[in-house]
Amino acid sequence: MSSIIPDLSALKVWFLIGSQGLYGEETLRQVAEQSQEVARLLQASSDIPVTIEWKPVLTDSEAIHSTALAANADPSVVGVIAWMHTFSPSKMWIRGLQALQKPLLHFHTQANVELPYADLDFDFMNLNQAAHGDREFGYMLSRLGIRRKSVIGHASDPRVTQEIGMWTRAAAGWAEVQGMRVARFGDNMRFVGVTEGDKTEAEAVFGVSVNTWSSSDLSDSVAQVSESDVDELVAEYDQLYEVVPELQAGGARRESLRDSARIELGLRAFLEEGGFHAFTDTFEDLGRLKQLPGIGAQRLMADGYGFGAEGDWKTAVLVRVAKVMGAGLAGGASLMEDYTYDLTPGNETILGAHMLEVCPSLTTAKPSLEIHPLGIGGKDDPCRLVFTADAGSGVVVAMSDVRTRFRITANAVDLVEPAAPLPQLPVGRAFWKPRPDFVTSVQSWLAAGAAHHTVMSTQLPVEAFVDFARIADTEIAVIDEHTKAREFEDTLNWNAAYRGLARGI
Ligand code: MN
Repeated sequence: MSSIIPDLSALKVWFLIGSQGLYGEETLRQVAEQSQEVARLLQASSDIPVTIEWKPVLTDSEAIHSTALAANADPSVVGVIAWMHTFSPSKMWIRGLQALQKPLLHFHTQANVELPYADLDFDFMNLNQAAHGDREFGYMLSRLGIRRKSVIGHASDPRVTQEIGMWTRAAAGWAEVQGMRVARFGDNMRFVGVTEGDKTEAEAVFGVSVNTWSSSDLSDSVAQVSESDVDELVAEYDQLYEVVPELQAGGARRESLRDSARIELGLRAFLEEGGFHAFTDTFEDLGRLKQLPGIGAQRLMADGYGFGAEGDWKTAVLVRVAKVMGAGLAGGASLMEDYTYDLTPGNETILGAHMLEVCPSLTTAKPSLEIHPLGIGGKDDPCRLVFTADAGSGVVVAMSDVRTRFRITANAVDLVEPAAPLPQLPVGRAFWKPRPDFVTSVQSWLAAGAAHHTVMSTQLPVEAFVDFARIADTEIAVIDEHTKAREFEDTLNWNAAYRGLARGI
């Protein structure tokens, strides 16, 4: 089956170097040489998944402006890194910065690590003055209110390449949502608040286009699936998963597995034909579908599609963004739902799952393919993949529509092994301990009005979502090892005031 997880090396980030004509040809030649070497160091780092493209040194307002317009116009360019190698008077940058529509990273660095103390003369000082050249640039960025990430340090430092790499992933996530199409089969689950949201605002803020189709559009697509394609897909299931005997060839419920495969194929064909990268469904509007999509939704997520249950398109968008940002990293990303707790004092643990739809990218083990009754929806028993997410670090991220804006809430978590086996639990699940501790995390999460649906990523740290939210100019509330509940509540209040002022009337 075809994955839509992108190859991030096909995306470019331009490396722009600021200087000025004052220094003469020889200095500018050295600036070019040294900055090409820095570009090579960045490109050589496995932390940076995109292609870094060095651009000729910029020395005047015209060149800066036309470079910004060219970056805007090139769809393969997901962002721009700027470094003022020498001193580039920042008024030269005003028009270019105002025109730039791509994400910006300010890389505050220099060519050398140590100073050549014995030989250090004023020619060296003249050539290596980013320490103040970049401060001049920072002034103009702040004065113009340009959102950017600042990374400080030498290109040979792994912390630096990790920070730049994570930002390039966020920039790729941002490029993905521009024009991304989300298909909703049916509306939101009736009476639920947090899965609602302003779809028009979502297109204005993130660029995503969210529209609804009926369950009969989907069941029409399912009806067109050929029996030979179903044969092929169930054979793939047999290979990839531990199939329970009743679902195996000749088993009593093999036909239910064929129904599941047909739904997966119909869904996939609909999404491929429409160019959709995310979708939602709802158990309240299944029309002629025989089952709620279980394994189909799980496998589509594993192939990179965003998914939200019960009409939750905001989480579907987040799942897709996490898939793109995490491309190529170990781990996975999935729809997740806080379900129930182990409240043993000192060992509080969250058990997350969903009715069916947890992505198997969260496990490196072979999932079990099972069939069980589903209490709601009134349809046939759905087939689903059952597994436990691998232990390790992760993040859960939710998006709420808080009426005047979207608020993203991100919690750093540690996935753990369950305290005991769960032989009766018939779904994919994850266990985790939220940072900084259970009470602070949940108290903060509730204060933020953050959703019960999240994307769980075991590929990305919180910083990837912070970078994404900064690019999107969207509020993000972070709960991690530094969080204190009272300060978090204050931050929410400040954010509300700031966002209200920034939005204007
Ligand atoms: Mn749900």
